Amino acid sequence: MSSQDRIPDAVTLTGVGRVHGKGTAAVTALHEITVGIRRGGFIAVMGPSGSGKSTFLQCAAGLDRPTSGSVRLGETELAGLSESALTELRRERIGFVFQAFNLMPSLTVLENITLPLRLAGRKADRSWSAEIVRRVGLTGRTGHRPAELSGGQQQRVAIARALVTRPEVVFADEPTGALDSVTAKEVLVLLRDTVDSMGQTVVMVTHDPVAASYADRVLFLADGRITDTMAGASADRIADRMTHLGAWA
Ligand code: ADP
Ligand code: MG
Repeated sequence: MSSQDRIPDAVTLTGVGRVHGKGTAAVTALHEITVGIRRGGFIAVMGPSGSGKSTFLQCAAGLDRPTSGSVRLGETELAGLSESALTELRRERIGFVFQAFNLMPSLTVLENITLPLRLAGRKADRSWSAEIVRRVGLTGRTGHRPAELSGGQQQRVAIARALVTRPEVVFADEPTGALDSVTAKEVLVLLRDTVDSMGQTVVMVTHDPVAASYADRVLFLADGRITDTMAGASADRIADRMTHLGAWA
């Protein structure tokens, strides 16, 4: 809860730990993570490979259950929810964007974008769907199949699909990881625009300082701990901080 306005944070992690595996094979991916993600913010989670970025995102988004600690989406504590309630919460209140796009190849662009609404048994609001299509720059492409689109266009379909339910938070795991730098920039500008013009909350995992520089705040993860944060930093400063943390060493 922010002290100034008493609006609950979009996501609150308190003492979140996650151990993968058991016994001698056990790996502690997250150690006692405590962080609040405010509404309408764009957060980047950075760190080298194996630092716990994906585990952080999956725990924060209700895709994985922490071994210890608490995750809240708004005022909803996730730990107490059954699998089906968690599935419904993810479908209704969270949007996801993945590195590999994860589109349905047999569906058109528009069918892919509106799929979360159909899965939730909600009627597609045509004017909202059209607005989303326009915002992501896919007007005129809605009848195409994903295979007929470039990688950048496919990721824009995935972003539109993530936004269509008006989720409280969009979680993106390396959304530009499969894209060239020019196309990556288009996707980052689009994510930035959803925050600035729609008030969307975005949490993006990345290992790329350029991608992270589009966020308002960067959380640095190393060995499963938040070791630092930076606000409003340039790609150069972010890269420099990573080097000084020794995280690339
Ligand atoms: P990142 O996304 O930063 O590369 P991950 O969250 O994927 O990091 O992984 C953090 C640590 O947890 C790594 O040591 C990884 O090997 C381990 N890990 C992740 N998922 C599993 C799993 N399902 N089983 C065992 N170990 C895992
Ligand atoms: Mg990862």
